[in-house]
Amino acid sequence: MNKFFDLIIIGAGASGVFAAINFKHIYPHKKVLIIEKNNKALSKVKISGGGRCNVTHDCKSVSELIKNYPRGGKKLSKIFNQFGVNDTFNWFENRGVKLKIEADGRVFPQSNDSQSIIDCFFNEINKYQIEILFSADFVDFEKENDTFKVFLKNDRSFESQFLHLAMGGFNKIDSFDFLIKKGFNVATPIPSLFTFNLKKKDGITELMGISKEKVGIRVLGTKETIEGSLLITHWGFSGPAVLKLSSLHANLLFDKQYDYQISINWLFPNNLEQIKTAVFPLESTKKVFNQPLDLISKRLWQYFLTKAEIETEDRWNNLSKKKINKLAEILSNDMYEMKGKTTYKEEFVTSGGVDLSEINLQTFESTKIPNLFFSGELLNIDAFTGGFNFQAAWSGAFAVAKGIGEKVS
Ligand SMILES: Cc1cc2nc3c(=O)[nH]c(=O)nc-3n(C[C@H](O)[C@H](O)[C@H](O)COP(=O)(O)OP(=O)(O)OC[C@H]3O[C@@H](n4cnc5c(N)ncnc54)[C@H](O)[C@@H]3O)c2cc1C
Repeated sequence: MNKFFDLIIIGAGASGVFAAINFKHIYPHKKVLIIEKNNKALSKVKISGGGRCNVTHDCKSVSELIKNYPRGGKKLSKIFNQFGVNDTFNWFENRGVKLKIEADGRVFPQSNDSQSIIDCFFNEINKYQIEILFSADFVDFEKENDTFKVFLKNDRSFESQFLHLAMGGFNKIDSFDFLIKKGFNVATPIPSLFTFNLKKKDGITELMGISKEKVGIRVLGTKETIEGSLLITHWGFSGPAVLKLSSLHANLLFDKQYDYQISINWLFPNNLEQIKTAVFPLESTKKVFNQPLDLISKRLWQYFLTKAEIETEDRWNNLSKKKINKLAEILSNDMYEMKGKTTYKEEFVTSGGVDLSEINLQTFESTKIPNLFFSGELLNIDAFTGGFNFQAAWSGAFAVAKGIGEKVS
C-alpha cells in the first residue's frame, strides 16, 4: 500500500466516512485513506436507533436545532448553516435513500433499516474508490514540514498532507493523552443519555410499562423543567423527558455520583394552585377513583390516590381540604430519590472531548495545528436523543470536507 495520501481520516464511523465521501465528491482524484481499528466500518450506524438509524430530526430552523445540544449549542450554528437538516434529507434522498419523519420529529430511512444508510455509504465509497484500512489501530501523529506522520500499532505508519480525527467518543480521559500532550484542552468524558434508577424500592415500579405524555421533570436544586413523555420502568424512569434531563445535567449528575432527587409534575404545565383551582373537578359528584385526570392511566391514577390517602368511596365534591392539598402536591411535585443510572440501549453518547475553543467553528480545523481537522463525538459536542447526534456528525464532517477542499493545492 502507498504510504502517502492527500488526506488520512482516523475512524470509519459516521463522521469519518461522511467526510471522506464529501471530500472525494469535490476532489475525486485526491488520495484518501480511512484508518479503522475494527474489522468493519459504521458499526454504530448499524445498531443506531434500535437498528433503524435515526439520521436526523425534523427541525425547521438552525435556532431551533441548536437548542438540542447541551454541549455545542450556539457554537454549532456555522456548521448547521452550511449543512443542516434539509441538506441531510437531500443528501440521502439524492442517493436513493427515502427518509420519513415520525410523529415526534425523528427521521428514519423509510426501510426502517440502518443497512439502507450503510449500503448508501458503501456505494459512494466504491464509486470514489476510497481506501479503508481495517484492523488498524491509530496511536499518534506528528507534523513535520507540512506533512503528517500517522503512527499505528505494530510500527506501521503513513503520511498525509491533511489529517482528520473522527474517532468517536472515548469514555476515559487517558484515551485523549496523545492530544493532551500536544497541548489540546479536553473536557473529561462522562456518560450522557441514560435512564434514572430509584434509590429505594417504590410501589411505582409495579406500574412498569405505563407511560404518561407531557410531564414536567426537574432535578432538585436546578431551575430547568423538561417537558415530555415519561415511561415507568422496573428500575425507575425512562422516556424522552428523562433522557433529555440526563443529557442536560450530565455533568451535574456525574458530580453527584448519580445520587440526587427529582420532582415530577404529572399535570405539567399546571402548577399546584392551577391544579387545585382549575384542574380538579371539585363540583363533580363522581368518585375520584373513577375519574383519572389528563389521560393518566387508571392504575397510575390509583397509585396517586393511594399515596394521597384518598378512599375508594371519596367523591370530588366531598374531598377534605387536606386530601385536595395532598393530591395536588403529589401531582405537581412528586419527589423521588434516585441513585445510579442505566444505559439507554437505543442511543448513548459520551459528553466531553476536544474543547470547541481548539477549532475554527466554520471548518473544524485545529487552531493550533494547521491542516489538522476534527469532527463527531471526539469533540465536546453531544445532544439530546432523537437524531441530533448524527446530524452533528454529518454537519461537522461536511464542514471538514469543505474546509480541506478550500485549502487543497
Ligand atoms: C447504541 C447506539 C445507538 C445510537 N443511535 C443513534 C441514533 O439513532 N441517532 C443519533 O443521532 N445518534 C445515535 N447514536 C450516537 C451516534 O452513533 C454517534 O453520535 C455517532 O456515531 C458519532 O459519530 P463519530 O463518527 O464521531 O463516531 P463513531 O461513529 O463512533 O465512529 C468512530 C470510529 O472510529 C474508530 N476508532 C476509534 N478509535 C480508533 C483508533 N485508535 N484507530 C482507528 N479507528 C478508531 C471506531 O472503531 C469507530 O469506527 C447512537 C449511539 C449508540 C452507541
